[in-house]
Amino acid sequence: MKALYENLLRVKYLPHVWCAGCGNGIVLGAFVRAFNYTGLDKNSTVIVSGIGCSGRVTQYLDFDTVHTTHGRALAFATGIKLANPELNVVVFMGDGDASAIGGNHLIHAARRNIDLTAIIINNSLYGMTGGQVAPTTPEGEQTKTTPYGNPEPPFDISKLVAAAGATYVARFTSYHVRWIEKAIAEALLHKGFSVVEAVIGCPTHMKKKPAELLKFQKEKFKRRKLPIQEITPYDIGIFINEIKPEFTEKLKEIQESAKRV
Ligand code: SF4
Repeated sequence: MKALYENLLRVKYLPHVWCAGCGNGIVLGAFVRAFNYTGLDKNSTVIVSGIGCSGRVTQYLDFDTVHTTHGRALAFATGIKLANPELNVVVFMGDGDASAIGGNHLIHAARRNIDLTAIIINNSLYGMTGGQVAPTTPEGEQTKTTPYGNPEPPFDISKLVAAAGATYVARFTSYHVRWIEKAIAEALLHKGFSVVEAVIGCPTHMKKKPAELLKFQKEKFKRRKLPIQEITPYDIGIFINEIKPEFTEKLKEIQESAKRV
């Protein structure tokens, strides 16, 4: 009998390309365990990814996968879901991919409440291209392109998608891996636009040891019961979990009623 990871991973491509201690591998592992837990059929599931370090997941997951262009993962995923609403469609993006280049796709997918599971791996900078500032970089933070500190306030991705209409929104860090796993499982089973923001460290560009980054996450991020409007970027938890009409189902109803005219 094959081990779980052999059924869901393309083991021939391992070991992966991520830097030692990178959180991308932690999120990939959480996804594999969460997917297995849900009992969903991998043959009815499509995984879409964008560009960036997180985009490599589609190489390792043994599903039908599409590695798309920068910022357009949600646009491809929307097309796949509209073509066949029976499919489970999962979208992996980095924070730059999702909230900068693909920012409009993100807010409009949320606004429509289309049944996609978006896993946004947030390392708060552009990792693959050299550690540049991103829309999620904390104010004052030094990056390759802000050596004297970032002058811009950051996006809070969870707040952004909640305000735009996402019906499942959770944020955890790579230190809280069991909670990420549970949130991904819930998001996969959720009907509507679901977002799991997975905050990770980037040891290469943050110039910190992986253990130091995990310790920072453990000490800094807190799970408090707060309304979404009051959360800070260091709050973690399941912020939104509600049922609202889903886009492809509404579309089907409109198509059926149009046929009757
Ligand atoms: Fe991970 Fe950073 Fe390396 Fe990218 S650059 S693989 S985010 S540690």
